[in-house]
Amino acid sequence: MKNNWANELQRLAWLLTSCFFIGWLLGYALQGLVVGCAIHLIWNFSQLRRIHAWLMSKDKNQEPPELPGFWGAVCDKIYYLQRDQQRIQAKLEADVAYLHSSFASLSDAVVMINGHGTIDWCNTAARSNLGLRYPQDLGQHLLHLFRDPQFLQYFDGLNYDKGIEVKAPNNGQKTLWVQLTRFGEGDRLLFARDITEVQKLEQMRRDFVSNVSHELRTPLTVISGYIDNFHLFTDKIPQMALPLEQMAQNAQRMEYLLRDLIDLSRLETLPNEMHSTSVSLSLLSRMIVEEAQASLGDETRVINVDIQEHVDIWGNQLELHSALLNILINACKYTHDQGLIELICRKDEKGAYFSVTDDGVGIEATHIPRLTERFYRVDPSRSINTGGTGLGLAIVKHVLIRHDGELLIESSPGQGSTFSCHFSSHRLSE
Ligand code: ADP
Repeated sequence: MKNNWANELQRLAWLLTSCFFIGWLLGYALQGLVVGCAIHLIWNFSQLRRIHAWLMSKDKNQEPPELPGFWGAVCDKIYYLQRDQQRIQAKLEADVAYLHSSFASLSDAVVMINGHGTIDWCNTAARSNLGLRYPQDLGQHLLHLFRDPQFLQYFDGLNYDKGIEVKAPNNGQKTLWVQLTRFGEGDRLLFARDITEVQKLEQMRRDFVSNVSHELRTPLTVISGYIDNFHLFTDKIPQMALPLEQMAQNAQRMEYLLRDLIDLSRLETLPNEMHSTSVSLSLLSRMIVEEAQASLGDETRVINVDIQEHVDIWGNQLELHSALLNILINACKYTHDQGLIELICRKDEKGAYFSVTDDGVGIEATHIPRLTERFYRVDPSRSINTGGTGLGLAIVKHVLIRHDGELLIESSPGQGSTFSCHFSSHRLSE
C-alpha cells in the first residue's frame, strides 16, 4: 500500500508537471495545471465508478475489476475482506445449523425466546410436548400459548435456578418439568421434559407403600395383642419370658416403622394445603422438650432453651409437632448421657427459626446431604438400638416442604450437630 501511495503521488506529479510544462510552452501555465487536475479527477472518478459497479453487482462471487495502481490495491483488499467475511458467515451458518439439528433431535422440548418474550425457534419435541406450531408460532409471545399461572409467575420471576412442574398447555393429562435459562442479552432458553410416566410410577410406588403399611397394621395389632396376653402366663412358663420380650420389642419396632411409613406417605400424597391455622412454635417447643425428657427414661440430657414468645406461623400443628419432636429426639438419641442440648425458637429478619444443637456424636460431612433420604442411617446398628426407624428426617423434610420451610444441618464428627428449620416471613401469622 505504501508503494502504491508513492507511485500514485509520482504519477500525479508527472501529470501535473507535464500539463504545467505544455501550458507554459503554450503561454497558459496555470490553465495547464488546472487541466492536469481535471484529468486526474476524471480518471479517479472513472476508477471509483468501476469499483462501485463491482460492489453493487448481484453476483457476490464476481472477481474485482483489474485496476491500475492504488485503486487496484484497494479493490484487492476489499475482495480479500469479502472472501474472509463469506468464509466466517458460512462457518457460523454451519454451526447454527449443527446446533439446531442437535437440539431438534432432543426428546426434550427446546424453545428459544428473545428479550421481548417472543418465540424465535423451537425444536420438534416442542411441537408435541408444548403444542407449538412451526413456523406459525414463531414471533408469538410465549405466554399467549403457555398460560399456566404457575408458569407465568416462574417466567416473570428472576430465579431460574430450579425448574417447575406444570401441566402441558396442549394436554391436561401430561405433566412437564420445565426449566428456563438465560443467555445472550435478555434471551431465554426453555427446556421441557414430559414426566407423566415418571410421575405415574412415583404415584404407584407411594400407593404401594401406603397400602402395604395399612394392610400390615391390622395383623400386627392382632399379633401384639396375643403377645401382651401371653405375658400374663410367663410366671407359669418362665422360659417363654425372654422370647416374648423380644417378640414384643420387635412388634413395637414394626409398629413404629408402619406409623412412620404411613405418616410419610400421607405427607407425600396429600396436596399442599393452604394453612389457615396459626401454630405457636413457642408453645410447641416447650411441649416437645417435656415429651423428649419423658422419653429418656433413666438417662438424662441437659436441655437449655431459648424460646421467644409468640413465634406463630400458619401451619399444621400435628405435622409441625412431629417434625420438631423428631429433631429433638434425635439430638437426645445421638448424644451421650448428661449430654448438652440447646433448643432455640426465635423470629429473625427472614421469618422464624427453630434449631436444636447437641454435643453428641456428630456426622461426617459426606453423610449430611443424604440424611433426609428414607432409611439412610450413618450408623445403622446405633440407629436401630435407639429405636430409630430411619424415616424421621425424611418426615421432617416433607413437613418443611409443606410449610415452605428449609432444613439446614451443620455438624462435625465428635463435636455435635445443629439441625435448624427456617420458615420464611410470609408464614408468620402475626
Ligand atoms: P433414625 O430413626 O435412624 O434416627 P432419622 O431419619 O431421624 O432416622 O435420622 C437419619 C440419620 O441421621 C440417623 O440414623 C443418624 O445417623 C443421623 N442423625 C440424625 N440426627 C442426628 C444427630 N442429632 N446427631 C448425629 N446424627 C444424627
